[in-house]
Amino acid sequence: MSDTTNPVRDTVILGSGCAGLTAAIYAARSNLKPLVLEGHEPGGQLSITTLVENFPGWPEGVQGPELIENMKKQATRFGAELRMAHLSAVDLTTSPFTLTLGKDIVHTRSLIIASGASARWLGLPSEQALIGFGVSSCATCDGFFASGKEIAVIGGGDSAMEEALFLTRFATKVTIINRSENFRASKIMLERAIAHPQIEFLHNTLVEECLGVEEKDLKGLKLFDRKSGARWTLPVSFMFLGIGHTPNASAFKGQIDLDTDDYIKTEDNVFVTLMGERLPGIYACGDVQDRRYRQAITAAGSGCMAALEVEKFLEEHGR
Ligand code: NDP
Repeated sequence: MSDTTNPVRDTVILGSGCAGLTAAIYAARSNLKPLVLEGHEPGGQLSITTLVENFPGWPEGVQGPELIENMKKQATRFGAELRMAHLSAVDLTTSPFTLTLGKDIVHTRSLIIASGASARWLGLPSEQALIGFGVSSCATCDGFFASGKEIAVIGGGDSAMEEALFLTRFATKVTIINRSENFRASKIMLERAIAHPQIEFLHNTLVEECLGVEEKDLKGLKLFDRKSGARWTLPVSFMFLGIGHTPNASAFKGQIDLDTDDYIKTEDNVFVTLMGERLPGIYACGDVQDRRYRQAITAAGSGCMAALEVEKFLEEHGR
């Protein structure tokens, strides 16, 4: 491990999604030369989505990856450094903070945690065995492989509706399987899905098993109807998960306050705490701390706030 050649950074941003890149734009424009660690999913969730229709300033919508690419260009133009690196350990107990990135160590006076959230899985062994063989959590990435097939989308929120609508471009029929009676999806998304002739719905239905593990090819889903108690098989060649996300905050467990679902607790939007006390120089923004709104624009907004707080913090500490 080597850290002698690395000067202490003014700020490091963990994550390169909408929140992290907005923080990078602001921090770079304040001449803080932020280091952005891109993490496991560079570009975050926007980089695996399709059309974003609700980001202000794009009347016709913008493709998620294009939006992210533009943000990267904007951040680097002002001096942000983007690095493909994963955090393997972190020590926030002493300042400057220490980040271990495989063989490298980075010290920083301030830290913006914008590590986002990752797609959730059902957790069935058969599901895990068939990831990449008919089971996917990314419609944008794998939709093409569902061409001409009958498929299932799991979930009842906006993610599931969005995935299902997108997948109708490829699949002949999409069955949305919702474990509850009611949907969490917004009215507009739900109405679009209901109106689509290729989309059908199953309510109160749980997936108990993915069939085809031996063949390494999804053949169908063993379903359980929670109301009638009936068990039956839906023959589908693809299953896409759209059941929400888990915040990427496990590396910080014990060092900062997390809520019961492991979202980072924040005060005044971006201030990170430990046992209720604010930790100077550490901020969180975007989906890793936002279980309520989880929108690209709110992530960007909190990224901006985090960078402004970093600026203030460094100024107060003589930088
Ligand atoms: P949500 O939390 O809104 O919905 C998750 C869905 O998955 C629920 O229907 C939930 O069921 C179901 N679910 C969760 N765990 C399981 C499980 N283990 N097995 C089966 N079903 C499960 O998450 P989304 O990702 O859909 O949306 C998150 C946020 O992002 C929302 O605010 C949404 O509006 C926004 N969004 C906006 C989009 C847009 O504007 N284009 C697109 C996508 C998301 P239950 O209700 O029973 O808990």
